[in-house]
Amino acid sequence: MKEITRILHSLKPDELTGSISTPIYQTSTYVQEAPGVHKGYDYARSNNPTRKVLEDLVATLENGTHGYAFASGLAAIDSVLKLLKAGDEILAVDDIYGGAFRLFTHIYQKFGISIRYVDTTVIDKVEKAISEKTKLIWLETPTNPTLKISDITAIAQIAKAHQILLCVDNTFASPLAQKPLELGADLVVHSATKYLAGHSDLIAGLVVTKSKELGEQIKFIQNASGAILGPFDSWLVIRGIETLPLRLRQHSENAQKIAEFLLTQPLVKKVYYPGLTSHPNHEIAKKQLNYFGGIVSFDLKIDDKEIATKVVSSTSLFQLAESLGGIKSLICLPCEMTHKSIPVEKRYESGVTDSLIRLSVGLEEVEDLIDDLSKVFKLATTAVTV
Ligand SMILES: *Cc1c(COP(=O)(O)O)cnc(C)c1O
Repeated sequence: MKEITRILHSLKPDELTGSISTPIYQTSTYVQEAPGVHKGYDYARSNNPTRKVLEDLVATLENGTHGYAFASGLAAIDSVLKLLKAGDEILAVDDIYGGAFRLFTHIYQKFGISIRYVDTTVIDKVEKAISEKTKLIWLETPTNPTLKISDITAIAQIAKAHQILLCVDNTFASPLAQKPLELGADLVVHSATKYLAGHSDLIAGLVVTKSKELGEQIKFIQNASGAILGPFDSWLVIRGIETLPLRLRQHSENAQKIAEFLLTQPLVKKVYYPGLTSHPNHEIAKKQLNYFGGIVSFDLKIDDKEIATKVVSSTSLFQLAESLGGIKSLICLPCEMTHKSIPVEKRYESGVTDSLIRLSVGLEEVEDLIDDLSKVFKLATTAVTV
């Protein structure tokens, strides 16, 4: 059976009523027959049947043993970090999501966990940066917003040789485009807020583990720390996942066309999209990804925040907002929005200049989206030449 059919039919009708849609169990507790005698559910922080359907579904999607749903992507990341203890070190991708940077640097360092950031697209640098303290390698691939691709298989081999856990933030790819556990990672996290939910209508996070042991540890942390996803939002994520195959295909097709259009624009200096042969990691991307995804970033010829601000404020279909992965197209200026908390030099090092613009390409007709961008480039060109 092909994957998409397998996913859709792994969601079984409700045993009690035959309801084809997963029931929403909006409850905090469950009535017991006798003290400690119950149907496997005692308190809804520990277990909820709606959340369980989502957790099993994402485990199936990622080909892992266990899935767990959290109140946000950052809560999911936080649960993985809680596998560590004081004195441990994390080796993380340098081009990391701003919120993960803030969590690692400003919360976990305080508890004695150190962080080292490296360019994980260069395998030698990963190998060299490992110390005896390194207990976790943290990858994001593709990264935000310059879409760098790290070779998961090669890094997993290094991690294994040193008995270090490898966790991949798979948010930008989604499980249909990339399966890190199959490539050797131990854990996968998602901000389900993005492609999995897919409609810009909730905040959620997921963790999937490759082994039963790690699954049990994350389950313990989920219950002990308590940042669980509620039943209604769990249901919405399930519903989102049901159309992920169709959405992802269209997001990727539109993004590829927009990336190729951007290459032809005189105002544009550089286009970041893993589906372009000019992308420095295009070969690994082709090997590792089934889809190149819906995110396209580009840098303007003139590194000027004012012009970039004008561009991102002038589109009409691309709406100015943080976040990504929804059905409607979004545009953002990372230096002022998603990447504001990253120190300027570090930001420039990873290519996030004052004129770098990120698009989350939605499901509109691509001709309309290209039209929207064309109009704005015309306006900006006039402004620059006057
Ligand atoms: C959005 C995002 C997160 C954080 O997820 P939230 O759901 O906003 O908490 C983590 N990693 C990546 C790559 C993201 O894009």
